[in-house]
Amino acid sequence: MLHSLVVFCCLDDFLYNGVIMPEGPEIRLAADKIAKAIVGQPTTELFFAFDELKPFEETLRGQTVTAVETRGKAILTRFANGYTIYSHNQLYGVWMIRDAYDFPQTNRDLRLAIHNAKKSALLYSASDIEVLHNDALSEHPFLRNLGPDLLNDTLTVEHVIARFTDDRFRRRRLYSLLLDQGFLAGLGNYLRSEVLFVAQVHPSLRPVDCSPEQIERLAAAALTLTRQSYETKGITNDLQRAADLKAQGCSYAEYRFRVFNRDSQPCYGCGTPIVKDTLGGRRSYFCPTCQTC
Ligand SMILES: [Zn+2]
Repeated sequence: MLHSLVVFCCLDDFLYNGVIMPEGPEIRLAADKIAKAIVGQPTTELFFAFDELKPFEETLRGQTVTAVETRGKAILTRFANGYTIYSHNQLYGVWMIRDAYDFPQTNRDLRLAIHNAKKSALLYSASDIEVLHNDALSEHPFLRNLGPDLLNDTLTVEHVIARFTDDRFRRRRLYSLLLDQGFLAGLGNYLRSEVLFVAQVHPSLRPVDCSPEQIERLAAAALTLTRQSYETKGITNDLQRAADLKAQGCSYAEYRFRVFNRDSQPCYGCGTPIVKDTLGGRRSYFCPTCQTC
């Protein structure tokens, strides 16, 4: 039976329609689906579009995939012989999982294919693909500069508080800092607005302007909302409220967020219309009453 799964929806449409880019939770969910198709299976064939990667088609052929991991928005596909494929979707990359060699009809460029006896994991349009031996992984420029991953189970509120109060970060505006993958890995644009709202902190503040209670709320919200989004496939709203809204007939897009995409609608906390602004080049949403300066 033909079985296909588009791991990410078309990001071109996402961009042009102003919809939502994948963040840490979406990347981890995608990695889970890729893992289900290829982990524990020896590869039968690989394809790399880029000439400099062609030699690795032989290096990795017949090797068992041992894990598909994420580091922030990067995906690491690990092989039994100590090599890892690093890929970062950036804005356009799309993974598709198909039955083996059942290529979809698409105008996109295939950049990486990992085939086994049953499945093919196909990466389209991404340009940021490398193969590294595990010894070199820690020296990779993106991975080396990545902050702690919010989806890492060992990361605690105390660790995150320590990031906010670190001299490298505490004088930066939160609207910019929360998008910096070198600060905390996994946050993106919708999580930024949601974290600041839950913490009741104005986006223009810097950590150094915040009280210890505000910093603690920011750290807790960054952890809990990112993890909740992963576990619920993207819901950062209060889960009871989301369930109630769904029962009332609201769509997923309508019930998933607390403030993001809700400009001019009443704040769930106080009823004030939510404000939309462009901060750090990206759209941001907040409540001018609940999130004071
Ligand atoms: Zn409010």
